[in-house]
Amino acid sequence: MDIITVPGEAATWTAAARRAGHLVGFVPTMGALHAGHLTLVQRALAECGRVVCSIYVNPLQFNDPHDLAAYPRQEEQDLALLREAGCHAVFLPSNGSLFQGVDPIPYDLGGLDQRWEGSSRPGHFQGVVNVVERLFHFVRPDAAYFGEKDRQQLAIIRHVARSHRWPVAIIGHPTVREPDGLALSSRNTRLSPEQRRAATVLHRALQAAAQHAFQGTVEQAHQAALDELATEGAIRLDHCAIVHPGTLEPLTDWNGTDEAVVLVAAYVGKVRLIDNRTVGR
Ligand code: AMP
Repeated sequence: MDIITVPGEAATWTAAARRAGHLVGFVPTMGALHAGHLTLVQRALAECGRVVCSIYVNPLQFNDPHDLAAYPRQEEQDLALLREAGCHAVFLPSNGSLFQGVDPIPYDLGGLDQRWEGSSRPGHFQGVVNVVERLFHFVRPDAAYFGEKDRQQLAIIRHVARSHRWPVAIIGHPTVREPDGLALSSRNTRLSPEQRRAATVLHRALQAAAQHAFQGTVEQAHQAALDELATEGAIRLDHCAIVHPGTLEPLTDWNGTDEAVVLVAAYVGKVRLIDNRTVGR
């Protein structure tokens, strides 16, 4: 596995892979890799001849300095996991090297950043998109893989890639879960055993809403999720909503769409967890 630390060398690596006739797949991450990340790498390996994964804890997307400081870092283990998965290269840009000579710019996110994670974490999605643009600029992949776990992030990256005609296919991949339903997240390592147990209520709330989706009213499905969340005293709800899959605006009825997305975000202790589920007719 090649290790690329100088941003300019990423483009050279990709150019060589392409000259050898390969499509280049790219999996951007913030490290502390788990089976969710590795599933994205496996999907990329199945679809592209060469795969690059990046590990970069992006300071621009953290509005809480404590969250940034507490974010788990385990580079040696990450590199071993990527090697084992068959990843061809890992891009490890140093802090600041991505923005040499350029400043972050404001992107038009089509209003998709106004709610949910956007209102809870001001500036978060501008930070995400700015760094993703820099990573794409250097890596120049044919396809980039993102988890549906971060559903709003995926919608925003798709929107910007389309509106800026970025020459990269944005591929979303389903959320990987623990056997008890908890969505895998690097943040899960910060949960105590008791908090880890409480955290499963997010998944149960999504299931409760899904059972009512496209039957009864949207309000009934929403209430089913809220009732489930209320059974767990150890969490503090941030938001729970049933939204349109494209606009991420709250649905008032089921008309005009064949799919809906149930979004949930909650604090378990100091750890903020998110999850979502797409439900169809
Ligand atoms: P992160 O390192 O948290 O920025 O995540 C890197 C990528 O992995 C993002 O595209 C995430 O959506 C994706 N990801 C994180 N957790 C999961 C999961 N449980 N299942 C699938 N993809 C995930």
